[in-house]
Amino acid sequence: MSAVGSTNSGSQLNPLLPLGEVAAPPNTMKVLENVQQQTGPQTNSALCKRLSPDNNTEGTESENAPIGGHKRQRTKSGSEMDNMVVSPLIGSECYGKSGSEVQVVAPPPLCERNSRTLRTDGLEENSTESSCSVASRDNNDVNISSYNNSISSNIGDCNDVGKLDSKNNRQLSGNETKDTQVLLNGCSSIENISNDISGAESPQCSATLDYVTQLPEGCSGSKPSTAASSSILESTTLEPRRLDTSLDSDVDLEDDDNYLDSSEGEDDTDMTTTLGDEDESCGEDDNQSVISSVTIESTCSLRSVASEVASTISLNEQGQATNEDGSLLYNSTPSTTPLPSFNVSLFSHVPPAINFCKYNEKTDVMPSVIQRLLKWRLTNITPLIVKKTVTNSGFKMTKKTALWNGTWGKHMKSPLFKDIREFQKLNHFPGTFQIGRKDKLWKNFVRLQTKFGKEEFGFIPKTFVLPGEMKAFKTAFDKEGVKKKWIVKPPASARGTGIQVIHKWSQIPSDGPVVVQRYISKPYLINGTKFDMRIYVLVTSFHPLRIYLFQDGLVRFASVQYKTNSATLEDRYMHLTNYSVNKTSATYTHNEDAGQCQGSKWTIKALWGYLKAQGCDTAALWSRIADLVIKTIVSGESDIVLRTRRNVRSRYTCHELFGFDVILDEKLHPWLLEVNISPSLHSASPLDHSVKGPLISDLLNMVAFHIPDKLSHQQQTTLLNDLKLGEGVSGLCLDRRMYTRLLTTEELSKHVRINGQSRSEYLATVLENITPDDLRYLIMYEDERARSGGFSCIFPTQESHLYFAFLEKSRYYNILMDAWESIYGTCRQKGIDRLEALCAIMHHLQVPQKFKLPKTAIPPPPTPNLSSSPRQQPLSPKQKPSSPSSTG
Ligand code: ADP
Repeated sequence: MSAVGSTNSGSQLNPLLPLGEVAAPPNTMKVLENVQQQTGPQTNSALCKRLSPDNNTEGTESENAPIGGHKRQRTKSGSEMDNMVVSPLIGSECYGKSGSEVQVVAPPPLCERNSRTLRTDGLEENSTESSCSVASRDNNDVNISSYNNSISSNIGDCNDVGKLDSKNNRQLSGNETKDTQVLLNGCSSIENISNDISGAESPQCSATLDYVTQLPEGCSGSKPSTAASSSILESTTLEPRRLDTSLDSDVDLEDDDNYLDSSEGEDDTDMTTTLGDEDESCGEDDNQSVISSVTIESTCSLRSVASEVASTISLNEQGQATNEDGSLLYNSTPSTTPLPSFNVSLFSHVPPAINFCKYNEKTDVMPSVIQRLLKWRLTNITPLIVKKTVTNSGFKMTKKTALWNGTWGKHMKSPLFKDIREFQKLNHFPGTFQIGRKDKLWKNFVRLQTKFGKEEFGFIPKTFVLPGEMKAFKTAFDKEGVKKKWIVKPPASARGTGIQVIHKWSQIPSDGPVVVQRYISKPYLINGTKFDMRIYVLVTSFHPLRIYLFQDGLVRFASVQYKTNSATLEDRYMHLTNYSVNKTSATYTHNEDAGQCQGSKWTIKALWGYLKAQGCDTAALWSRIADLVIKTIVSGESDIVLRTRRNVRSRYTCHELFGFDVILDEKLHPWLLEVNISPSLHSASPLDHSVKGPLISDLLNMVAFHIPDKLSHQQQTTLLNDLKLGEGVSGLCLDRRMYTRLLTTEELSKHVRINGQSRSEYLATVLENITPDDLRYLIMYEDERARSGGFSCIFPTQESHLYFAFLEKSRYYNILMDAWESIYGTCRQKGIDRLEALCAIMHHLQVPQKFKLPKTAIPPPPTPNLSSSPRQQPLSPKQKPSSPSSTG
């Protein structure tokens, strides 16, 4: 059997626990053409397969303790928490333990500033807290000690850091930039660094304390029962699994985007700056040309995204979308033979990921010992296409057990993420309502618009959040008069519910919160009909930021031809493009053929073919959309990173698919209408399947599901012998070392040092010595890219540093990725070879000594001091010393 894959509120019920358990105008197009000329090619990663076995695993499983300062105080040495580096500035009671890891203790405050404590709901409120001192308890911690001394000894030191910070144009947080005192600036920059000791992503102390007391059994770092694992030791027999092809009977509960929990994010503090009069025209005129200078530059790197898809698609004489060579776009037939069960990593000693086939295919039957471990938690909103995909790929559905590995569910409040264990994966990050709620989206957007101008942030129609901004809205309304139209929306709804197009003041609802947005009254029309685009965006990590754009999507048409006169405004079939609205229209026309430009729903790829035939620079348009996507994600990044650090234990846990709704105005200028954090995956037609089938399988492959680490070394060895995954695969199960956030003293000091450098400096230095921690991040990134299928990476790219200005804080791993892309972005294989040379000697498995090595993990060789001298790092696989693996 070949198993090697090809790439391709308060007390609240936790939905993830078992039931009952608590827990552009003309000139725009010109600019776009210029942009196209600047485009450079971007090499795609190539696969690298390895061929060497290693049988060094043994024993049972182990769990790491949850993250958090207080937890560390309470846990015994040896848990992951014990080794966590905690931001020195987030609280006054965070302690580390001695050892080779960094010890960080915050003594009484030397510098005080408004800091934040965590409420029980995971949100922030102001408090004054120690924020500027760190201390070491251990003589070994030379670097952090001196770092500590340098910042805590006197104000001058703080000033120095602040100066260094500004000299290097590092980004300060919103609050920080408002601070005029040098002292506070200095402290702030230190905080930036310390928060971005990114291994040091630990929840704030107070949150951790709550967490420790709330954790359900089995989640606090104690060992789960080994009974289950011992009971499965013997059996490796293959049990037949049938392909589930019953998609015809698709009865998804949801037929459109899911509503947000209406309370999600509502209790957040308001961080919006309301625009002054001068700014009220920002983004309000759909005839306005808004061109981003950053866009112009950065689309150079995004061009590869565009050219891969948009520019190559044409329509043939029959009106079908075709590839460049004339072949039909949607003519692939599902595989009739089972596909491999695993995707093997590009790198040695990295466990394989489960291969997800499409909903209408199947993978090889897994050995029963593995089958029993693959559990998918069913939720009320799990889309049928997800169910089919995961069951055909080896998972069993479950509602009962807490030991699930994957789930696809609703968004949860941030604190509930603390219940997710290290071997579990779910489709959300905490805090994404920051872009998923219409009111929050606008508030975050306007913050950046105020700072950077409408040239950069002019792609959301002017919006007011009522009743708070009623006065400003009245002023804008009166200025425009009744000629201008507005669209009124509930702040956290979906599917067109509660939406109204208006032009009279009397139509403004006086009760309840609503957003009122400038109506794009001159949309680009096809066959006289309005449409919008559903763009799928996958974020696999917020720190470092990794954003992928799916190359296909949906075009949703209104079912009645568009008219501009005000008498038509009540016609939802004319002015709204939601499928949920229009499917009930007598004039809604189904389109069964994904390649055809016909009916009320098209694919994005078919749209590109159509627009190209109209003379549109589709590649440039796609780049504009990619730019809009990045800036939108960036607008919520800071809060999401913070919540993730506080509430999520493992880097393995989160990923999120976003549905961006974009409308084109008559000049083909893209406008963002909203972002859905639970985009509909309902598939009612072959066209839907053509888009969402690959979307889901590609997504699940990219985020890499591993077999839970519940198999002994002996079991893994036996299975690997049978599965024949290649010599470089030495372990079969999730390896928690790959996802640890622990840093050694040396790694921490590197973070501090690099965070203080200018771009030209860090480009020259950050990759000189790749630390084990660096390596783990780079491996994950390259593997992800290699399995990206129909997704294109739009961040990081060689130009993504241009977006750093919009981020509230400079973060180490974004810097690392920037340098990586800068050096290897056009010669990926070289970079992959360099990483593989290090993986071959298990450099990535070198973790801080106090990391509690699960018994199922392959023991790494004795630590070579690789990071002390660049020359000691292997540069190519050919140079590698004898090791348990080799590259193919
Ligand atoms: P929902 O989350 O309920 O789908 P949207 O903001 O996506 O809310 O709006 C629903 C539909 O209304 C969109 O698909 C689009 O057709 C139309 N629409 C929304 N905002 C605007 C706007 N500013 N200008 C023109 N049409 C809009």
